[in-house]
Formats: sequence, C-alpha cells, structure tokens
Amino acid sequence: MTHHRIAIVGTGFSGLGMAIKLRQEGERDFVILERAGDIGGTWRDNTYPGCRCDVPSHLYSFSFAPNHGWSSTFSPQPEILDYLRDCAERYGVMSHIRFHHELRGADWDDEGQVWRLETSQDELTADVLIAGQGPLSEPSIPDLPGLDSFAGTTFHSADWDHDHALDGERVAVIGTGASAIQFVPEIQPRVGKLHVFQRTAPWVVPHRNRPMTRLERALYRMLPQAQLAMRGGIYWARESFVLPFRHGRLRKALERMALKHLHENVHDPELREKLTPSYGIGCKRILPTDEWYPTITQPNVEVVTEGVREVRERSIVTADGEEREVDTIIFGTGFHVTDIQIAALIRGRDGRSLDETWQGSPEAYKGTAVAGYPNLFFLVGPNTGLGHNSIVFMIEAQVDYVAGALRAMRRRGARTVEVRPEAQAVYNAELQRMTMGTVWVTGGCSSYYIDRNGRNSTLWPTFTWPFRQRLRRFDELAYALEAPARQPLPAAAA
Ligand SMILES: Cc1cc2nc3c(=O)[nH]c(=O)nc-3n(C[C@H](O)[C@H](O)[C@H](O)COP(=O)(O)OP(=O)(O)OC[C@H]3O[C@@H](n4cnc5c(N)ncnc54)[C@H](O)[C@@H]3O)c2cc1C
Repeated sequence: MTHHRIAIVGTGFSGLGMAIKLRQEGERDFVILERAGDIGGTWRDNTYPGCRCDVPSHLYSFSFAPNHGWSSTFSPQPEILDYLRDCAERYGVMSHIRFHHELRGADWDDEGQVWRLETSQDELTADVLIAGQGPLSEPSIPDLPGLDSFAGTTFHSADWDHDHALDGERVAVIGTGASAIQFVPEIQPRVGKLHVFQRTAPWVVPHRNRPMTRLERALYRMLPQAQLAMRGGIYWARESFVLPFRHGRLRKALERMALKHLHENVHDPELREKLTPSYGIGCKRILPTDEWYPTITQPNVEVVTEGVREVRERSIVTADGEEREVDTIIFGTGFHVTDIQIAALIRGRDGRSLDETWQGSPEAYKGTAVAGYPNLFFLVGPNTGLGHNSIVFMIEAQVDYVAGALRAMRRRGARTVEVRPEAQAVYNAELQRMTMGTVWVTGGCSSYYIDRNGRNSTLWPTFTWPFRQRLRRFDELAYALEAPARQPLPAAAA
C-alpha cells in the first residue's frame, strides 16, 4: 500500500487549482485521484452542442493564468477544456494524476492518523484528503415511470451521445435548465419535432456573448494589465448581481427587464403565459441566452407543461393523458447537488459517514472543514455555490486557505487538524441568518440551492469578497491541531 502526504480527488478547476498551489508551495508528495481517463471535470464531461460558460471567460479562469486567446466573451467548452489542460501541463501537475482511480471509500484511521483510501484500482493511505469532487458532477435522471421500457435512445446532457444523429427525429427534451437552454437552440434546426418538457419556466435574460476581436486579443497579449483590469471590472459588475437576490425592489426591476425580453421575442399570448415564471427572479439560476425564445417559438417546437405520467416503448404520456411519439429522450435535468455523493464514502473519527452526520443538510466550516473529520478539506464544499459570480474565485480562496492549514500543520509539527464543532456551529448559524429574507428562501420556487430539509446548504448567500476575506488567513484558533502521534512530518521537498 502506498502512502502520500496528500490525496486530492478530482481534476476540475478545484483539484487542478489545489495541485498547482501545492507545487508552488514546494510540496511533491501528493497524488490526484481521478475516476475518468482525462482531466477537466465539468468541461470534460459536458460536450453537448452549445456548451459554454455563462460567466465571462476573463473571470471564469484562474487569476494566476490569464488567457488572452479566448475566442469569445463566454468561451465554448472545448476552449475551457484546452485551457485546463494547458494549466495542468504548464504547472507540472500531470505526473501526479492517477486516471481511472475512482475513490470508493475513505476511512479515517484514528490510530495511524491517516486516511485509508480505497479506489477502483488499489488502496492507499494519505495524511490529508482534499475533496474536489465537483458540485455538478453526478448527473441526475428523474425516475419516470416506464422509462426502462423505452425502446428509443436516451442520454443525459452531461453524457451526450455524439454517435447518435438526431436529424429528422422526434426528440423529447426533459428540463429547461442551464444546459437545455444551451443545447436546444443547437439541435432544433436538425430535428423533425422537438417536445420540450418544462416543469418550471426559467427566468431568461439577454446574453450579450460576442466574439473577441483581434485587437482585444493583441492588446491582452501585449498588455496583460489591460486584461487584469477587464477581469476586475467584470468581477465587480458581477458582484452587483447579488443585490436583487437580497433586495425585493431591485428584484422587481430585474424581473421587468427579463419580461421585456420575453415579450419582445414571444408574441403568442398562450405560449408567453407558459413561459412566464411564477416565482421571484434568482430563486433558481437565471439563464442568460438570446437564442432560447426565438428557438422555442419555431414551428417544430412544442413546450409541454403537463407533467410526465408515463414513458412507453415509443412514446411519452403526460398527466392529461396525451401521448407523444418520440425517438429520443434527452435529459437536461441537471445534477445531484445537495445530496453530495462522495459524502456516503467518507467516514470520520467515530466511523460515521458524512451522509449520516449531515442527514440531508451538508454543512462545513467556511465550506471547507467538517468537525469529526480530521485532515479533510472540501473545495466547493457546502455553501460555496454562487448564483451570480465565478466559482473559480471561491475555489482560489479555498485553495489558499487549505494551503495555509497545511503550512500551520507543518509549523506546529501537528499530525492532525480538525475544526472545532463550536466554530462550525457559529459559522453556520450566521450563514443561515444571512440567507433569511433572500429570494432563495422567499422566492416561491423549489431549487437545488435548498436541501430536502428546507435549508440552504449550497449557496454562499452574499457578495463573494467577504468569503475571500474570511479565508484569507488560516484561523488556527478555530481548529484543534494535535501534536504528532507518530514521527514529525518531513519537510517539503525543495
Ligand atoms: C454545463 C455547465 C456549465 C457551467 N458553467 C459555469 C459558469 O459559467 N460559471 C461558474 O462559475 N460555474 C459554472 N459551472 C459550474 C462548474 O461545475 C464549476 O464552475 C467548476 O467547473 C467546478 O469545478 P470542480 O473542479 O469543483 O468540479 P468538476 O469540474 O465537476 O470536477 C470534479 C472532478 O472530480 C472527479 N470525481 C468526482 N467524484 C470522484 C471520485 N469518487 N473519485 C475520483 N474522481 C472523482 C470528476 O470525474 C471530475 O473530474 C458549470 C457547470 C456545468 C455543468
């Protein structure tokens, strides 16, 4: 069995960002476990037509690795994947990655003071476990009655079947979330008939994506400060987007803007009615697109608002008894978010899994550490999700914080670091207080931001800069750092 000082799970922005930081800190004894055969996480798995980020690329990228070559303001998936590959290679982390190593179990060994890790390939131990398993990495497919009996093709947007030609087919798209609004406009011209099954109408706002000009790219190449300034401008503009989520009057103004977009694009009153959201804007993720409304008003598209009663061998039957023949069903139904899948695999000091500890309401200290689970850190853990800004900003704050924890362990010669339960409780009580009155709890929708106990366990509920401020320094007083039970940690390799 091999032993490493640190094991990281995942090679998305989180895992790669952490690995790059470790390299920069001189740490060499770490391994990255990745269940897939390539790096990239979200940007490896989501290859559906039209997939792109919805936070501008200047901001949706690492602050230390600006890319002057983005082709558009909101870059498409292949470019983001290339960017991540380039970062992984440039910063020397590829050799640390163990592909096809899915973490299947992580047990804290209190006597040996190590994590005992079981992967799909082997077993290993690590002093520290850093989980960057991704907030949106487990596709969710609804349990529709009769789905098993369907004889046509089915796939999820995060597992797009590129070998399956949709040309001329009768296609059902289930869901109208962030992925569906990107791929529906791409497939609509090719398919024969498109039935879009909508449970809740999304709030849609204009997108304003545009190609990056040659002049801009040349400017950013020659004058990196210009790109930095642009990134700063975008960041602060995006920060202001949180205000309507917290203040009703601003919300109304934003709703008026979104309704204007709807009215300008959809003229049929009946369809407009179907597409008008019945909850406060921001309660679910706001979807930026210029193509959604023009697409679903096309003659070969039908918006179905009746719920699905049953799937048959070649058709879908809705609650009103109507049957629609379809060849392919595409699930744009999102991901398991509040039921963090890795939580069932991780067992802490008393042998309890995180699932058992959380009971459906994940919580951590600063989205990063959990009492009872020593030497475990999450990236994009509970309450670090955003509805308004770049998650990479949050990831970088957490990566720096974890690096601070590792430095503190080394400095104090500590074998274990564990957040104090009282610090975690106070932090989370404050988070829930900050959530009160926001659109996420008062907006009248059901969303993946709120868990099955009705608690916000997903979102950071305010501006992002205070999060960064809180994580700027590793606050040792909130933690118990235990002296070595075995030998002191070796110094980091130069
Ligand atoms: C289509 C789409 C568009 C998005 N656009 C934006 C955007 O514009 N702005 C934004 O801020 N956010 C966006 N997001 C959210 C996005 O998930 C995050 O921005 C970010 O990519 C998360 O990075 P991550 O490394 O934490 O997770 P991921 O990218 O999901 O990476 C997690 C990695 O962990 C691996 N893994 C998981 N479990 C295990 C296991 N048990 N063992 C081994 N490996 C495991 C996975 O294979 C994966 O490679 C988008 C998400 C999607 C799906």
